[in-house]
Amino acid sequence: MSETRKVHVKSFGCQMNVYDSHRMADTLAPAGYAETGDPADADLVILNTCHIREKAAEKVYSEIGRIRVLKQEAATLGRRMTIAVAGCVAQAEGAEIIRRAGAVDLVVGSQNYHRLPDLVARVEAGERVVDTEFPVDDKFDALAAPGGDAIRKRGISAFVTVQEGCDKFCTFCVVPYTRGAEVSRPVEKVAAEVERLAQAGVREVTLIGQNVNAYHGLDADGRPATLGKLLRRLSEVSGIVRLRYTTSHPRDMDDDLVAAHGDLAPLMPYVHLPVQSGSDRILAAMNRRHTRRDYLDVIARLRAARPDLAFTSDFIVGFPGETEDDFRATLSLVEEVGFATAYTFMYSPRPGTPAADMAGQVAPEQQSERLQRLQALITRQWRAFNAEFAGKTLDVLLEKPGRHPGQLVGRTPYLQTVQVIARRSLTGSVSPVTITEVGSNSLFGSLASQHSTPELAATGV
Ligand code: SAM
Ligand code: SF4
Repeated sequence: MSETRKVHVKSFGCQMNVYDSHRMADTLAPAGYAETGDPADADLVILNTCHIREKAAEKVYSEIGRIRVLKQEAATLGRRMTIAVAGCVAQAEGAEIIRRAGAVDLVVGSQNYHRLPDLVARVEAGERVVDTEFPVDDKFDALAAPGGDAIRKRGISAFVTVQEGCDKFCTFCVVPYTRGAEVSRPVEKVAAEVERLAQAGVREVTLIGQNVNAYHGLDADGRPATLGKLLRRLSEVSGIVRLRYTTSHPRDMDDDLVAAHGDLAPLMPYVHLPVQSGSDRILAAMNRRHTRRDYLDVIARLRAARPDLAFTSDFIVGFPGETEDDFRATLSLVEEVGFATAYTFMYSPRPGTPAADMAGQVAPEQQSERLQRLQALITRQWRAFNAEFAGKTLDVLLEKPGRHPGQLVGRTPYLQTVQVIARRSLTGSVSPVTITEVGSNSLFGSLASQHSTPELAATGV
């Protein structure tokens, strides 16, 4: 197809959605679609939706309303615009979206993105299409691999999905229903993707999955491999200087993964480990299948393997039945662990999940009061964590131009953002940076030396 058309993909929610959005664009590229950042300019607008929290569907409908105006404007200029809804809201709502929103042409569920070129072709032939079946074929195999140009546009740090879906069924969560059962990609397929990324200039890879440490992809001998084993394999890929993974479940933090934190230099000392609550009663009602003690033990094992590990977490406040004592148990767990930061959410009932029908729903005012107390504590910990680095020298992976001319912005091993005065040619390098100022959102620093650090030298970059 010679004519170039334009696709705009708007992502909501988690990193898995951002990754999926990139893959949708990659998959549509051979059908003649180039990416655009401007929806008004697009022939195809895809809303890649998230269903995790409150009013997700309503937000999508109001976004559709905004895009519909652009579609009408395009039509007055004689140009056709196709609107597609993808992601977890599409999976959950299915044909209801087409019924409610006349402007939508295509609804595609989270497992079917590899079929997009065909689905879009059907729309162009005049159909309105809904495809939300969980397919038997492998989405990852069928999705287009990103080409060199696409990777270069996306920068130094890339996400790679290695695992999808969840079998855990926490009582508050829609993921097992919208993303389906857990599946893992084979080790060598992931390695091949990471090698391609490295060749195109990517230096840091974050492995992602709803339950990434439940990873059990097959190795080259056809045996299930752990995430630790996958990380060991990827740490051998030339050019990749940093590895990260997210999101983990405390129950799946096995000895091999803990040991990898002690053994693998490219594996960064940062673990996002959602706990949700510090109260055993609430953890049981959430069906988390771990206790507060189990969580603290996991943290201790990880710290024994890598003492400087930074931890972050997710918390839900106001889960049905949560009392002031339960909430205080959460605060005391936060005090006990000491987090680099954390994401805090007010419980919101998701239709179809067991917790939505539980007795003892907590009043919104109470939820919001607890959220503020928890956030205040986490903000104090986050400030204290950052303040410790003032005057210290850290390895920073310099990723892209910074806020001001002459600055590059990069990340420390602990994922803090640092603005550094540095020349552009250092983009993609890991450079030692002395932290001169700790700001409210980022750190500021100056280059300690122009030489490559061992982290970088070890990979021959
Ligand atoms: N798989 C991860 C885990 O085991 O914790 C996280 C999955 S979820 C995409 C991300 C976060 O959203 C959760 O950790 C939880 O804190 C929050 N979340 C999920 N469902 C929620 C709900 N119904 N209400 C409020 N927060 C919710
Ligand atoms: Fe949702 Fe995570 Fe629980 Fe799975 S483990 S049900 S993704 S919160």
